[in-house]
Amino acid sequence: MMMLPRKLGEACGVCGIYAPGVDVARVSFFVLYALQHRGQECAGICTGDGRVAHIHKGMGLVSQVFNEDNLRWLRGDLAIGHTRYSTTGGLSLTNAQPYLIETALGPLGIAHNGNLTNTSSLRRDLLQRGVGLTSSSDSEVITQMLAGAPGDSWDKRIAAFILGAEGAYSLTILTRDAVYAVRDPWGFRPLCLGKLNESGWVVASESCALGTIDATFVREINPGEIVRLDDSGVTSWQTEPARPSALCVFEYVYFARPDSLLEGRSVHRVRRAMGARLAQEHPVDADIVIGVPDSATAHTIGYANEAGIPYGEGLIKNRYIGRTFIQPGARLRRRKVALKYNPLPDLSGKRIVLVDDSIVRGTTSGPIVALLRQAGAKEIHMRVASPPICYPCFMGVDMAKREELIAGRMSVDQIAAHIGVHSLGYLSLEALRDIVAPASNGHCEACFSGEYPVIVRHESDRSMFQ
Ligand code: AMP
Repeated sequence: MMMLPRKLGEACGVCGIYAPGVDVARVSFFVLYALQHRGQECAGICTGDGRVAHIHKGMGLVSQVFNEDNLRWLRGDLAIGHTRYSTTGGLSLTNAQPYLIETALGPLGIAHNGNLTNTSSLRRDLLQRGVGLTSSSDSEVITQMLAGAPGDSWDKRIAAFILGAEGAYSLTILTRDAVYAVRDPWGFRPLCLGKLNESGWVVASESCALGTIDATFVREINPGEIVRLDDSGVTSWQTEPARPSALCVFEYVYFARPDSLLEGRSVHRVRRAMGARLAQEHPVDADIVIGVPDSATAHTIGYANEAGIPYGEGLIKNRYIGRTFIQPGARLRRRKVALKYNPLPDLSGKRIVLVDDSIVRGTTSGPIVALLRQAGAKEIHMRVASPPICYPCFMGVDMAKREELIAGRMSVDQIAAHIGVHSLGYLSLEALRDIVAPASNGHCEACFSGEYPVIVRHESDRSMFQ
């Protein structure tokens, strides 16, 4: 029996480039480099020269996968790229993207960020039509759906795909003559458009990638929009009637880089607002406010400013160690926390407010608190700039299984005791809603509220994550 690898949600980074006369592989490399925070497990670039497509992908960081030798072979005017988020399942090259296949309309390359929620029925349809699949990846399902969709053009096939797909997908697609960018009708995961020199265009998961390559931000791709980049420039059209949009709020809390724009707003500014509200909701007398670097820095500044307590560095991060949750297994993660953070000696005798952006499994906070105690902290008050995460994500963030989410099985008081702090306060869901609400007509906050914008219909889809 063929065992297909289990695939969990993916909040990866994707890009697409149309730029005649430009070394598109190198530009993609730099875009992926800037999107590295969205995925550290695998990276890949696929280019097209109007005739054939070339691909290189591998496991590891962008800088480990690419070098002058392999970039040289990636010729063409068109490119798509992908950097894959690490999950607890299926650490293998099979999951590396882009996917590249040959179709009746020429080469088709796909880079996907997100997670479909109706993968099981889509898989069944494909298998019944005689299409073979090599993995349980929904990105492979997307590739095969597009290849076999009705229509004599990619414009029509992509529109047909959108009608059948449910869930999260920000896609970049490479064809013989064009690069497409597609965002699901809910807009779960971000995607934006930039201008690169006179005739070139770029799409990327986040706007922070544009500055690196001297591109200028044009706009975000709208939920349900298809954008085609080719020798006629940018052509775009809306496919589905507008739905309440559902950009993931966790992008604001943690996932996106603080120097990106989401829904026209600076992520850093939104995070500072979260920290400020947290200070209003959970004030405490203290000598210093410190954050867990780097992801909680903006929230911490917001807290300190609002509270009128000095902001300071307390934990120094070894910047050469990747994200601790990359490594599955709680014991390993605990050891990596001590490898990653070191407290400053001058915390001795201080009453500390420790701010973090979120608590997911709850395996990081305890060891950090222990480090601060060893450094002589007198009191540690933990403040979390997002509400308790109680529900798993089916739309592309590897939030862990329900039973692994500490707030799913413990009260706030129990969590405080578990991690060993004097007090613990989370930002309320109401406050988070107030902060992000003005930007659009809806967000996905399912990890906090349990209200999912799409129905996860099939048990097999659910069981892939739970
Ligand atoms: P933990 O509570 O031990 O799972 O670690 C949570 C910390 O890891 C948070 O403070 C975040 O900075 C970061 N993090 C954010 N998202 C995730 C995620 N999906 N899985 C694990 N850790 C995450």
